Amino acid sequence: LDRRIAVANPHDELGHLAGTLNRLIARLERAVEEIRRFTADASHELRTPLAVLRSEAESMLRKTRTEEEYKTALRVIVEEATRLGTLADQLLTLSRQDAGLAACEREPVQIDALLQDVVELLRPLSESRSVTLSTNQILECEALGDDVRLSQAFFNVLENAIKYSSPDSTIEVETTDIGQQVQVTICDHGIGIPTNQLERVFDRFHRVDSSRNRSIGGTGLGLAITQAIIVAHQGTVELHSELNAGTKVVICLPKASSSSENLSPPETNL
Ligand code: ADP
Repeated sequence: LDRRIAVANPHDELGHLAGTLNRLIARLERAVEEIRRFTADASHELRTPLAVLRSEAESMLRKTRTEEEYKTALRVIVEEATRLGTLADQLLTLSRQDAGLAACEREPVQIDALLQDVVELLRPLSESRSVTLSTNQILECEALGDDVRLSQAFFNVLENAIKYSSPDSTIEVETTDIGQQVQVTICDHGIGIPTNQLERVFDRFHRVDSSRNRSIGGTGLGLAITQAIIVAHQGTVELHSELNAGTKVVICLPKASSSSENLSPPETNL
């Protein structure tokens, strides 16, 4: 169905107005389509763990099990319930962000201390995968922003680096002073991302080849959230990767001393 406004002469005043309206209509259509796809993907992602929870519970009710079988089923239930909880938190974060409700503080944030805290939070995961976190290149630096949200952004990237690292490899976390900006680099030596997927990993729910990820878990929302947070800080996030070699994520943020005045949420992707 073509909803565009037809015009006799595209060069007169009415023609220009119609042109502007047509562009707006096209933007709105894209936004509606994006929301529709997001809602469909979100309900699909919510239904999968719910179905597992239900079938485990039903099968336990159907027949008496040994203690060991009950324990196995309960472990699956706890795992799926945790996954549902993460998914619900992430969906809430994104919808607040889209609605422009996610408050973004503008205060000097000690990035080195914040990164060390994120590293400590993720140390148990890295140890469980025999991955070493190298932090001696985290130098003192301050950016302007919101410490809670920046922690979330770095957490997502470092968690991915650990999840997709090769066992016994090292992840380097570094900061560099580049003029008006602070640059944070998180570099892993893991499975990497194929070149044709690099753009898409920031898309909501996008996972590179879900079969290779199945055992690792994940929702496909982590990088979308990181990108939204960094963009709200007027920063940038870049991803460089080579398949079977590793991935490097480079995040730049305005320095606390830079003249950046306004960290209001930018236009959403609608
Ligand atoms: P997920 O929760 O699935 O990790 P993300 O949005 O954080 O979701 O990442 C999207 C996809 O990008 C992941 O499923 C994974 O396939 C790929 N990816 C992200 N970071 C890395 C990395 N460091 N190494 C390899 N693949 C990665």
